[in-house]
Amino acid sequence: MRLDRLCLHDFRNYECQRLELQDGVNLLIGPNAQGKTNVLEAIFLLTGSRSWRAGRKSELIRFGTPGALIEAGLTSRGRDFEVRLSIPLSGRGAVTVNGVKANRQSRLSDVFRCVLFAPEDLSLLRDGAAARRRFLDTALCQLRPRYAELAAEYQKLIDHKTRLLRDEERRSAMMAVLPDFDARIVAVGTAVIRYRAQFVSLLAPVCQDIYRDISGGRETLSMRYATVSTIENPLGPQKEMENAFFRHLETHREAELRLGQCLSGPHKDDLVMEIDGRPCRAFASQGQTRSAALAMKFAEREMFFRDCGEYPVLLLDDVLSELDSARQSYVVEHTPGGQAIITCCEDTGRFSPSGRRLRVENGRIL
Ligand code: ATP
Ligand code: MG
Repeated sequence: MRLDRLCLHDFRNYECQRLELQDGVNLLIGPNAQGKTNVLEAIFLLTGSRSWRAGRKSELIRFGTPGALIEAGLTSRGRDFEVRLSIPLSGRGAVTVNGVKANRQSRLSDVFRCVLFAPEDLSLLRDGAAARRRFLDTALCQLRPRYAELAAEYQKLIDHKTRLLRDEERRSAMMAVLPDFDARIVAVGTAVIRYRAQFVSLLAPVCQDIYRDISGGRETLSMRYATVSTIENPLGPQKEMENAFFRHLETHREAELRLGQCLSGPHKDDLVMEIDGRPCRAFASQGQTRSAALAMKFAEREMFFRDCGEYPVLLLDDVLSELDSARQSYVVEHTPGGQAIITCCEDTGRFSPSGRRLRVENGRIL
């Protein structure tokens, strides 16, 4: 999988910028606040996922302009694709693949996949469960378009139910529709849990091998998907899981009404990580936390490769400077085999001299 060409129009601080990329390593070098991460963000949007850092789509549009446009030329599974993604200030955006209008999420993840590693990922294990759920969701939305649809529907149901739970005035009317809501939440939520648990069961051994390499064979990293407590086996029969989830919802109904919150479901789940049997969140050192985050990202990359036989494009946003030399070496040695687009303030010279070097200056790429 390769991004050959990228054109940005009124995207973030770019007015009109064309950029050619090569196979292997591409370095975007420049001082702070020039537009390096903005380029990675535009590339990331081509996967069909939402930006990891923009709260609203209007943030993506250059100040004072009516909309942004991202155009890209890609090579995927030996074929060329032209992708066009428009982000208007008002109304819905449009996506075309080779000139044909596409359903954003499913069609794009079919042709283009990325793994992004940014400084905020270095605390993937230290942060709350939401960060790890986001990690799972970002990977799964690219791997399984059906998952993206389910996850979006689940989120809508939870948002809607939360509004109902908080609407004191219409409480009696709400009580009448609550069972229907819960039935749908259970059906969609169970499917979400199964996708995530299956993914984790495949990811865990890959991540363990990578972590063992990074730690010089001294430590063992394990991961487990933790879900609704009444579900004993998240890989078990669907019906059994649905019944268990429903039981959990029933026992929490009163508390949900009291607190005005949805307390039960995969939006509360976690990916529990342990090193040598001890929970990372409580016991991992800084170095162990970084190694585990690195292992998770490289395991995600490996999973994509296993799924489609091609490495996804690796986006490294300023992480090298945050890693010590042993971990930097790991990244440098494991990047070949695919395309990598790497931002840095200074050229450390660690990446191959054959890597393409592009200078970023105030919304321009030279
Ligand atoms: P650092 O090395 O500090 O991470 P960077 O080169 O990665 O810097 P970016 O985050 O890519 O920097 O770009 C930041 C710049 O883009 C800022 O100057 C910011 O004001 C500008 N910017 C962000 N959004 C918009 C927008 N919608 N319109 C115009 N400029 C924007
Ligand atoms: Mg940046």
